[in-house]
Amino acid sequence: MSSRRYKPDLPPVTLGEVRALGISLSFRCSICNSIKDIDPRDLPQSDAATMHDLVEVAHCTRCNRTRGGISVNPDLKPWVKHLRETGQDDRVPYIVRGTM
Ligand SMILES: [Zn+2]
Repeated sequence: MSSRRYKPDLPPVTLGEVRALGISLSFRCSICNSIKDIDPRDLPQSDAATMHDLVEVAHCTRCNRTRGGISVNPDLKPWVKHLRETGQDDRVPYIVRGTM
C-alpha cells in the first residue's frame, strides 16, 4: 500500500528576513499575468509581516485585481541559496528541491 505524501507547511517568510538579505519580492497577478519585482524595503509593513500578509493587501495596478489573485514570493534563486547556506533545507520550497 502506498502512502501519499503531502507538502509540509513551510515556516512563513517574513518581510524582515528578505529586507535583511536585500532580496526582492516578486508579485504576480494570476488574472492578467503581470509580474512586478518590489524592493521589500519600499513597503510600509513591519518586519514581522509574512508573504501571506502581503497577499492580503496586494493590488494589481494593471487589472485592478485586489486580494485573491496575487501571489508574493521572495526572488527564488537568492532565497533558496540563503536557505541552503544556512542549513534551512526544511524551508526550501518543494518546487525547487533538487533543481537549483
Ligand atoms: Zn492583474
